[in-house]
Amino acid sequence: MSASSPQILTKSLPEVGHFIGGANVAGSGEKFEKTNPATGEVIKLVASATRDEVNRAVSAAKEALAGPWSKLSVQERAGVLRKIAAEIIKRQDDFLQAEILDTGKPVTLASHLDIPRGAANFNIFADLIVGIPTEAFEMPTPDGEGAINYSIRRPRGVIAIISPWNLPLLLTTWKIAPALACGNTVVVKPSEETPSTATLLGEVMNAAGVPPGVFNVVNGFGPGSAGEFLTTHPSVDGITFTGETVTGEAIASAAAKGVRPVSLELGGKNPAIICKDADLDKAADGIARAVYMNTGQVCLGTERVYVASEIFDDFAERLVARGKELKPGDPFDAATSLGPLISEEHRRKVMRYYKAAVEDGAEILLGGGVPDVDIAYKNGSWIEPTVWKGLPGNSTVLHEEIFGPCCHLEPFDDIAAAVEKANDTPYGLAATLWSQDVSTAHKTAAKLEAGIVWVNSWFLRDLRTAFGGSKQSGIGREGGVHGLEFYSELKNICVKL
Ligand code: NAD
Repeated sequence: MSASSPQILTKSLPEVGHFIGGANVAGSGEKFEKTNPATGEVIKLVASATRDEVNRAVSAAKEALAGPWSKLSVQERAGVLRKIAAEIIKRQDDFLQAEILDTGKPVTLASHLDIPRGAANFNIFADLIVGIPTEAFEMPTPDGEGAINYSIRRPRGVIAIISPWNLPLLLTTWKIAPALACGNTVVVKPSEETPSTATLLGEVMNAAGVPPGVFNVVNGFGPGSAGEFLTTHPSVDGITFTGETVTGEAIASAAAKGVRPVSLELGGKNPAIICKDADLDKAADGIARAVYMNTGQVCLGTERVYVASEIFDDFAERLVARGKELKPGDPFDAATSLGPLISEEHRRKVMRYYKAAVEDGAEILLGGGVPDVDIAYKNGSWIEPTVWKGLPGNSTVLHEEIFGPCCHLEPFDDIAAAVEKANDTPYGLAATLWSQDVSTAHKTAAKLEAGIVWVNSWFLRDLRTAFGGSKQSGIGREGGVHGLEFYSELKNICVKL
């Protein structure tokens, strides 16, 4: 995300290094400043991994593949995963502190979503890996004796994990847990905006008895930095990435060299359809979450809302009212319900869309600018929740991912036309549909071009189900057995009887 160059600094601030071979490593290269997005203050220095440090992390992961980790039974590995989950919960306050300082997200959100779901990821993949079957086939042969085919799962090897800043612990553990469950070793490159919780996980891994080298973290940027050093490393056997579509293209190119498998969870421009028979209050609650939660910095969030004409004004009023209730302020205060954007750079990007909306003729129903905040937070990256209507179909605001707490409302008379507009995007990540008519709901859900369609809900996740994007929102599926397909090689053994 941040393209700014690392800077050499001498101030005395807490430092975040790397985690290589089971130990914290200070980092020998440049260090860059990490800002608290709520206050604009520089709060820590982060080491930017050199190529040599990335090489060391990959070597440690490679060596660990043949070490005690490979001798554990599936049940024993699952036991280690459960200990990791328990350790995260034990250290919940440390994780909360680290995540909130890095992102500015409200404690109410981080304590209900980011940290518990980060821990839950280890438990769910522990459960899955012990219960997952493989296939077997009996086949006839010309001599009449027959043959049996059966398959076994083997780890892929060293997995490079590149993650974004919006749900740092949750999205990184969503990859680490299945990778470890399948017996791989990992090198994680967290976002430069959110280095802290992944690095803290190193201590958790040691406490849970994960052998040195199985889990490694290198911090730094993307191009020309840790991200590129890692994804182009020839000893990396698979790359899993969550982030912007344009970064996904660069990572897919890196993965092509050496024909390494790649899993891509990318951007979205997600639609919602509110039918005239929807329960209006429930729909407004659901869309308010989908638009405003995490200050709109959720890949599954809604930025385009198509509302049946008959209920348009009633729905708009309800959504705007819910936006007005949001309270910016101290992220550690339980009364705060709106955090800042991740950085000043991201706020400039979102503000460009706020400006473009006005230039393109939008009517502002809510927000459109920067909120009033207490003096202590005036240098933070705050932004107002914003709702527009009246944009022309060719506005960039309707086609590009903004990643802010904003959406555009558009009325429809014919659901087929709403579906066509909803699908008019290069992305295909998520959609949400609100109707009390069972038949309309099923038929419309099937027509929406998205990896996940929620009916009368949003962000309701059963971690056993497939998760991923269609079109330019990604390649592959994470979650449940589908995640295990990427993190393991299914080997067929054919035995002639
Ligand atoms: P980003 O693509 O800018 O960065 C993601 C990560 O990639 C960071 O760690 C970054 O350092 C690294 N990176 C950047 N360029 C690289 C390169 N050339 N080689 C290797 N690594 C590189 O994304 P972001 O701004 O951190 O996150 C926001 C984006 O993530 C949004 O587009 C959002 O929709 C998407 N996202 C998708 C999902 C999903 O599940 N589909 C989930 C969350 C976020």
